[in-house]
Amino acid sequence: MDSQRRSTSSSGVQNKENTSHDHHHESTPPQDDVSRLTCEWKNCNYAGSFRRPAELMRHVQTKHISPRSYKCWKGECKAKFNRKDNLEEHLRRVH
Ligand SMILES: [Zn+2]
Ligand SMILES: [Zn+2]
Repeated sequence: MDSQRRSTSSSGVQNKENTSHDHHHESTPPQDDVSRLTCEWKNCNYAGSFRRPAELMRHVQTKHISPRSYKCWKGECKAKFNRKDNLEEHLRRVH
């Protein structure tokens, strides 16, 4: 008997995420779900959670790092926006 079973090199095997274990106990609060991201910025009252780090990053950037840093400069208009594209759309529509 020749051993045909070679150990195939497992380089390049895609990493499956095994996060689909759904054994919830009703008495356990769902707070140990590590797949959820929450904002840990101090004084942040956002109670929601984020499914992806990118969403959390965007929340932090828009809500904390540069909150409403885009201001309309037209006359007495005092509109402020979190995002540049929102300001540009405002300029296009209102002015
Ligand atoms: Zn936050
Ligand atoms: Zn304006």
